Amino acid sequence: MEITFLGTSDAIPTAERNHTAILLSYANEKILVDCGEGTQRQFYIAKISPTKLTRLLITHWHGDHVLGIPGLLQSLGFSGYSKTLRIYGPPKTKDFFNYILKSFRSIYIDKIKIQINEIRPGKIVDERDFSVFAEKLKHYNCFGYRFEEKDKRKINLSFIKKAGIKPGPILKKLQQGKNITWNGKRIKVKDATFVVKGKVVAFIFDTGYCKEAIKLAKNADIVIAESTYLTEHEDLADARFHLTAKQAATIAKKAKAKKLYLLHISRRYKGKENLVLKEAKKVFPSSHIAKDFMTIGI
Ligand SMILES: [Zn+2]
Ligand SMILES: [Zn+2]
Repeated sequence: MEITFLGTSDAIPTAERNHTAILLSYANEKILVDCGEGTQRQFYIAKISPTKLTRLLITHWHGDHVLGIPGLLQSLGFSGYSKTLRIYGPPKTKDFFNYILKSFRSIYIDKIKIQINEIRPGKIVDERDFSVFAEKLKHYNCFGYRFEEKDKRKINLSFIKKAGIKPGPILKKLQQGKNITWNGKRIKVKDATFVVKGKVVAFIFDTGYCKEAIKLAKNADIVIAESTYLTEHEDLADARFHLTAKQAATIAKKAKAKKLYLLHISRRYKGKENLVLKEAKKVFPSSHIAKDFMTIGI
């Protein structure tokens, strides 16, 4: 599993930071969370083809999170995109998408297969290897997301070797969590296998401080959270439903997460990002500032 930060600015981009867009790569999936203006170009700079996209999760319809959608669709159309792009977003996403499709109509955009899902809190994707959950956040019709890889049962190879069990369909049974009999001997799943915990990534942008954000981040391996302000501007953060670095760190701490990556960094802190990091680290030592084109493996 890999995360590529394609955009990490707040409402106004800087020379170093583009608007919000994060790409999660997992097996055959390329899941884009938000698509700020210029995201398609960020893909090319990162040397990733946007035609690999399988899903788009939209947190909310503020321009800095969605203005890149028409351009991305047009390029996918030009590139002969042949998958069905599955889109998830808050109520009204279907209307907003239809405006885009009507406004920028072309034979290329018309060719793209799109499936739009207006979501509610809870499980929104359930695949064999992973699920995605959504929670409503404290911002304008905004959702946060939680990607959960499912736990995997693996064969304890040294046990199997010792027991003299030969590879074959019988191992599949163990992998499915069923006890087996080998040469008249009962082999228990708990002895012959072990469970590898699935990885969890939480996406929390934009929001004021709320318990739903902590729920999304619960025991996550990686929390990616907005951090628009420092505590000195907590009044602005509260009024505009955004987080301070300290609040984002508090969410990660309360959720017992492993690592926190901060983004949606305001240009007012350009060159002073160490202050953002310092404030977060005081509460949650494993805090990091995300940068455009940073890639992290999980
Ligand atoms: Zn924003
Ligand atoms: Zn917003």
